[in-house]
Amino acid sequence: KQYVYSFKEGNKDMRVILGGKGANLAEMTSIGLPVPQGFTVSTEACTAYYEDGKQISPEICAQIDNKLAELEAETGKKLGDPTNPLLVSVRSGARESMPGMMDTVLNLGLNDEVATGFTKITNNERFVYDSYRRFIQMFADVVMGFPKSSFERKFDDIKEEKGVEFDTDLTAEDLKEVVAIYKEEYKKHAGVEFPQDPKVQLMEAIKAVFRSWNNDRAITYRRLNDIPGSWGTAVNVQQMVYGNTGDTSGTGVAFTRNPATGEKKLFGEYLMNAQGEDVVAGIRTPQPIATLNDVMPECYEQFCKVCDILEEHYRDMQDMEFTIENGKLFMLQTRNGKRTAQAALKIAVDLVNEGMITKEQALLKVEPRQLDQLLHPNFEETSLKCAQVVATGLAASPGAATGRIYFTAEDVIEAHKNGVQDILLVRLETSPEDIEGMNIAHGILTIRGGMTSHAAVVARGMGTCCVCGCGSLRVDEEAKVLMTPDGKKYHEGDYMSLDGSTGNVYGERIKTVEPEISGDFETFMSWADDVRTLKVRTNADTPRDALQARKFGAEGIGLCRTEHMFFEEERIFNFRRMITAETVEARKEALEKILPYQRSDFKELFKAMEIYPVTIRFLDPPLHEFLPHTDEEIRPLAESLGMTFDALKARVESLKEFNPMMGHRGCRLAVTYPEIAEMQTRAVIEAAIAVNKEGQNVVPEIMIPLVGDIKELKYVKDVVCKTADAIIEEAGVELPYKVGTMIEIPRAALTADEIAKEAEFFSFGTNDLTQMTYGFSRDDAAKFLNEYYTKNIFESDPFAHIDENGVGQLMQIAINKAKPVRPDIKLGICGEHGGDPRTVEFCHRIGLTYVSCSPYRVPLARLAAAQAAV
Ligand code: PEP
Ligand code: MG
Repeated sequence: KQYVYSFKEGNKDMRVILGGKGANLAEMTSIGLPVPQGFTVSTEACTAYYEDGKQISPEICAQIDNKLAELEAETGKKLGDPTNPLLVSVRSGARESMPGMMDTVLNLGLNDEVATGFTKITNNERFVYDSYRRFIQMFADVVMGFPKSSFERKFDDIKEEKGVEFDTDLTAEDLKEVVAIYKEEYKKHAGVEFPQDPKVQLMEAIKAVFRSWNNDRAITYRRLNDIPGSWGTAVNVQQMVYGNTGDTSGTGVAFTRNPATGEKKLFGEYLMNAQGEDVVAGIRTPQPIATLNDVMPECYEQFCKVCDILEEHYRDMQDMEFTIENGKLFMLQTRNGKRTAQAALKIAVDLVNEGMITKEQALLKVEPRQLDQLLHPNFEETSLKCAQVVATGLAASPGAATGRIYFTAEDVIEAHKNGVQDILLVRLETSPEDIEGMNIAHGILTIRGGMTSHAAVVARGMGTCCVCGCGSLRVDEEAKVLMTPDGKKYHEGDYMSLDGSTGNVYGERIKTVEPEISGDFETFMSWADDVRTLKVRTNADTPRDALQARKFGAEGIGLCRTEHMFFEEERIFNFRRMITAETVEARKEALEKILPYQRSDFKELFKAMEIYPVTIRFLDPPLHEFLPHTDEEIRPLAESLGMTFDALKARVESLKEFNPMMGHRGCRLAVTYPEIAEMQTRAVIEAAIAVNKEGQNVVPEIMIPLVGDIKELKYVKDVVCKTADAIIEEAGVELPYKVGTMIEIPRAALTADEIAKEAEFFSFGTNDLTQMTYGFSRDDAAKFLNEYYTKNIFESDPFAHIDENGVGQLMQIAINKAKPVRPDIKLGICGEHGGDPRTVEFCHRIGLTYVSCSPYRVPLARLAAAQAAV
C-alpha cells in the first residue's frame, strides 16, 4: 500500500489521503506553478501510526526513505550533506484546514557541520545561523515539548546584552552565540545533545506532526468545526525556500478576493527578509500586498498571474502563501480561503454572475453556520454617533460587539461561568491556546498583528467581531489594564465596544440593533429555497420570536412550548396556584385565570404566522421548574388558594421529585389533571375561531408531549377532541384541527405503528429522545461530556448533533413503522438538533417533512436543507 506520495503523484481530488495542503501542492505542481518540491506522508500513515501504538512502521519508514531519495535526486541536494545540503520544512495538513492548530518544523536538516557548509555556499552566515537557531527552537518546542519560554527568555537576554531592539539587528556572531546557548538549553531539558543526524530529525518531526493531531487545541477546534478525529493529518515534507536571505527575499500571505468583504481585489500582506512564521505571528507589521509592486515589480506581476490561474482553476477565492527567494517566486500553499459570511455570500453570488460556477455549486460554498454572522447585531446609529473612538485598529472580522473586557482567555471563561453576558477578549496577540476563550468572547481586540494574524483568521472563521493590530493602545496584561493614547485607563470588567467592520474601538457601552437582511443574502437564499424539499419551521413561544422567524423565512411553528408562556410574574403566580392546588375546583379556578393569557397568546401566534401552520404543544414542564421555593412565594399562594401556609408547604414538598426529568411531566400531567388539557384545548380552539373570523384560515395542530404508550395518547386525545368538538359545535363553525404527538421516548419510537393510529403527525423531540436513549441527563451531561471529548470517546455533543446510529436509528424505526399505518403522516423534528446542519442533512435523508429550530437558525437550516438536496 502506498503511504507516501511525491508532489508529482497527487492532485487536488486526493485531499482525503493527502490532506488539503498536500493535495493542493500536488495540483499546483501539475499545472506548472513554481512549487518547491517534496512529498506527502498520507493521512492513512497517520492512522497507522496511532494503530501501531504511536510508531511509524518499517514499511512506511522505507517509503519515506524512497521519496526522500527521489527528492534528493531531483534537487541535486542531499539531506545532511555539508557541501550541498537539502533543507526541508515538515508541515501538517488535514483534510479540512485547521489553521494554526497543528505543528510545523522549518529548516530541518541543519546541524553544526551543515551550518558551516551552508554558510560557505550561501556566503550568508547571518542567515544560516538565524535559520539554525529557529530550527533548534522549533524542534525543542514542537518535537520535544520543551517550554518555549525558556528559549525565548535566552533570546531576549542576548538582545538585551547586545543592546538591540529587533531580531534583525543581531549579527551573525550574535546568532552563533544564540545557537550555542540554545543547544545547551536543549541538553538541559533533554539530557542528551541536540540530534545532529538529519534522518533522526526528520522522523522525529513527522511523528510530532502526527501527535499534534491530538493536541488539546486541535481536539477543541475539531469539536467546534465538526471535524472527525478519525481523519488524521498528512505530513508534507518540502524543500525549504528562504524569504530571509536578505532584501531581495520575502514572504507573504494573500487572498484573491477580500476575505472580509468579498470584494474582487487582491488582498494580502508580506514582509521582506522574513520567514513565514514572522508574518503570521504578527511580531513585525507586514506591508499591504499592492506595495510589492514598488519593491519587486516582476515578482508582483508574476504573482498576480498565478492568482488568476489559481482562481480560474479552483473556481473559488484562494488563500495563498508565497515566498520570494533572491528574487524568485515560490508558491507554498493554496486553499479555498476562509471568509466572513458577508464575503462568502458576495463571492458565491459574484462567481455565479461571472459564469464561473452554477447556482447549485454556489450553494455549497457557504457554510450554513456562517449565516449566523449576518444575523447578529450592529451598533445603533444614534447611539454610535455619540460614542467616542478611543483607538482604531484593523477591521479584521465584521460585526459589532459591546462588553466587559478581560485580558486572558482563562478570565473570559471564568467570567462566562459567572454569568457575565457580554465579554470582550483583549490580548497583545492571540495564540491557539486562546481558542476556547475566543469562542466565548463576543469580540476580540489585539494590539499586535495584521489581517492574517492568528486572531484575525480565527475570529473570521468563528464569525466573531475582531479588531486587531491596534498599536496605539497599551496593554499591561499582568496588571489587567488597557491604556489609550491620551492616558485613559480601562480595567478588567470595564465596558468597551468594537466595530469589526471599521476597526474602531470605543471606550463605552453602545446599543446594538438587529441586522437588516437584503441584497446578496436574499438572492442566495432564494436559490436555496428553490432546491430544497425539506420545510423549515421555527420553535417560538412568543409573537416576537414568531415574527422574527418569519423575517428569516420560517414556514410555520414546529414547536410552541406553552410552559414558556408563564415566565411573567402574574402569570407564574397563577400557574403555581394551578399546579399546587389540592382539589379539582381549586385547580379549575386557577385555570380560569390562565385561559385568557393562553388564548390571546395563541391568537398572536396564529396572526404572526399568517398562512403557515402552528403546532402548539401542551404543557410539559417538569413541575419542579414552577414550584414555589421560598416561604415568601408560598404565603400569598396559600392565601389565594384558601389553604394554610403549612398545608401548602406540605403540598409543595409532596410534589418534589428525585428525578423530575423522568417524572410528573408531559402527557402524564394531562392524565392526572385532564382539566389542564381541557383549558389548553379551549384556548387553542377559541383563538383559532377568533382569527378565522377575521379572515385567516388556521388549522391548529395540537401536540401531546412525552408519550410512551398509545393508551396515554388515546386518553389525552379523547379529552382534547371532546372539548374541541363541543366548542366548535357551540360556535357553529367549521374548524379542522389536528392532534399529534412528540416522539421523545424510545418506547414511542418502537411502537410507532400503534401510535400512528391516533397521531396525525409526529414531531421528534430529540432533546428528550437523546436523553432517554443514552440515559444522559440533558441538564447535567455537559459536566462529564468534556472528558469524553478529550479522551476521544465522543467527537461531539449528542445533544447538538444527532447520534445517527442510536437516536437516528430510533427515528428511522418510527418512520418505517408509522408510514404503512398512516402514509400521509407529517414528520418533523423540534429538538435543538433541528438547527444543526449535519442533523438537517440527516433529516432530509430519512424523509422528514420539516425541521423546526430557533428563529436565528432558520436561515442556516434553509441552506443546510438546500445543500442536502443538491
Ligand atoms: C425535545 O425533547 O426535543 C423537545 C423539543 O422538547 P423539550 O426540549 O421542550 O423537552
Ligand atoms: Mg421534550
